Amino acid sequence: MSFLKLLASLFTPARERPRRYVLPLSVQCHRCGEVIHGEINLANDLSADYGEDGGGATTYVCRKVLVGAGRCFQQIELELTFDEGRKILQQHVTGGKLLETGATQTSR
Ligand SMILES: [Zn+2]
Repeated sequence: MSFLKLLASLFTPARERPRRYVLPLSVQCHRCGEVIHGEINLANDLSADYGEDGGGATTYVCRKVLVGAGRCFQQIELELTFDEGRKILQQHVTGGKLLETGATQTSR
């Protein structure tokens, strides 16, 4: 790979990367209103939950903390539950609110 190609690949926009295992999302800080963009790696960031009774459906839980780039030190904690198809079942956000995820964008 040439140096220029390598350089170009480093700056490839997120939307051109394979989306399948990365879920982009945006949250807004309750304190300062800053919109923070993050992403969840569906292959690495989820932990499986096989259900309390052993017979339930498998779900996946992801906990992630996002901090804005500004002076505000508010931490926004995301706790997301996904079903087997990696769709969001439940969301719990403290310190901010979830604005959008890649899943809602692509369903249009
Ligand atoms: Zn903030």
